Order: sequence, then structure tokens, then C-alpha cells
Amino acid sequence: MKIRFWGTRGSIAVPGKETTVFGGNTTCLEIVLSGGTRVIIDAGTGIRALGDYLLSECNKVSVYLLVTHIHWDHVLGFPFFAPVYCSNSKILIDGFPSCMKGLRVTFDTRMGDGFFPVKFDDLKSDIHYLEKLKYGPMTIENTAIDCIPLQHPQGGFGFRFREKGKTLVFITDNELRNDSWEGRHPRDYAEFCRGADILIHDAQYTPVEREKRHGWGHSDYAAALSLAANARVGRFYFTHHDPTRRDTEVSSILAKCRDIAKEMDLKLPIDAAVEGSELIL
Ligand SMILES: [Zn+2]
Ligand SMILES: [Zn+2]
Repeated sequence: MKIRFWGTRGSIAVPGKETTVFGGNTTCLEIVLSGGTRVIIDAGTGIRALGDYLLSECNKVSVYLLVTHIHWDHVLGFPFFAPVYCSNSKILIDGFPSCMKGLRVTFDTRMGDGFFPVKFDDLKSDIHYLEKLKYGPMTIENTAIDCIPLQHPQGGFGFRFREKGKTLVFITDNELRNDSWEGRHPRDYAEFCRGADILIHDAQYTPVEREKRHGWGHSDYAAALSLAANARVGRFYFTHHDPTRRDTEVSSILAKCRDIAKEMDLKLPIDAAVEGSELIL
């Protein structure tokens, strides 16, 4: 698998000189499976540049788009994903059960409310809702994909990709907490992430910030790191950086995570997700 971050920011895009290192675009992850099939997770603002890149490589774009949930920061880039306007593009959609509704609403509500100048039904690309993940795991090429519910307002899905003995877990917008909100306990997430080669998890807050934001649906870096340690993952990336966070502050959170890991004598490579960076698995 080849994995590239196109958007690492949470809540709202924050372009500017304070976000040039870790990136200002909201969630979008590109995964190229070993057979070449391309899977995109989320259509945050990062998907705009991904669409342009794909069209520059090939004029017949064919992708899967898996949507974690339909909060604006995860769907708002979809009308700017240029392949949706190309008749020879194919976009297969799956993910959280409301994903199709969320993507459609970025264009129109069928009431002519004027949210966007183009109607969803006028898009030229071949767009299909597969509707598989809400019933159970799915397979693309030889990669098994399954999901776990998120502890997040209105819910969502985290995804696990297993291919040729390698495992990637992507969980964003998830509040790790001990009281099993929405029926999921940290041990359920640890089980889901157990032994993953790479875990990418939401760590929008510091532990102090999270004290005042219970129920907002995001984790702090200490809780996310603890999940990575308990699940004995091979590598941990934190993402969904808070929009108020400057590059220097994300760097200092990264340093704190590495210090905690050192204190725990944990041999765990840790990084903050960087927009534009690529991982090979
Ligand atoms: Zn989000
Ligand atoms: Zn959300």
C-alpha cells in the first residue's frame, strides 16, 4: 500500500503561514493498493488537489471514496474534486451510511436553495454508492476493509485495511473515553487496532483542552498514544490537527508524544501527519 496525506487538519481549512509544515487542508487520505486500485478516505478540502493530480496523471480516473462521516470538514471538498465533472471518471462510494446524502448536500438539497452552482444530478462522472460497509466488511482487489463505529456526534466509521499481511488503521474524529459512550470502549478500539503496522488516529486536543471538550468527539494526544501503545501498533501518526494549532505547536505536541513514549520505554515511531507526505506499507 502507498498512503498519502492530502488533508490533515480538523474542523475547518486553515491556509496561511502558520500551517505550511503540517498543512491547512481538511481530511483526505489517498491509498494505492498493491494492484494499483486507488482508495480515497474522505472528501475534505484536501481532495481538490488530489483530483487535479489524478487528472494530470490520467484522463480516466477510477477511484473508491470511503467517507468516515459527513461533517463538513470531511465532505466539503467534493464539489471541487475535478473528476466528478469528467464523463470518463468512475467514483465508487461507500462508508458511513449517510455518506451519499452528505456528498450530495455539498451540491444541492433538491430544493434549489443555491448552495452551489452545479446540481449533483448534472455531474458527468459515473458515481455509484456501493452500500456495502454498513452491512459488513468489503474486499477491494485482495484487500479486506472493515470498520468500527466512532465515538463522535452523529457517529462515523473508522477503517481498517488488511493486505498481504499488512494492516493500516485510519480512525479520525473519535473520542477515546472510558465510559463507553455510544457503546465503544478504548479496549474495543485496541482490539480493532491490534498489531496494525500503521495507526493513524485523531489527536485534535491536548489533555488540558479535552477536559473542557467532553462530548465534542475528539481525542487528546495522550489518549491516542495510549491506544497505539496498548494495541502494539508498529507506527503511530496523529492527525485532525486543531485549526488553531500553529506548526510550532503541532511540533511541540509531537515532541511531547515522543517524550511520553521514551518514558514508557516504548519503541514506537511517532509522527504528526503532514499534508503531502507519503508512507509505504
Ligand atoms: Zn472532522
Ligand atoms: Zn466530525
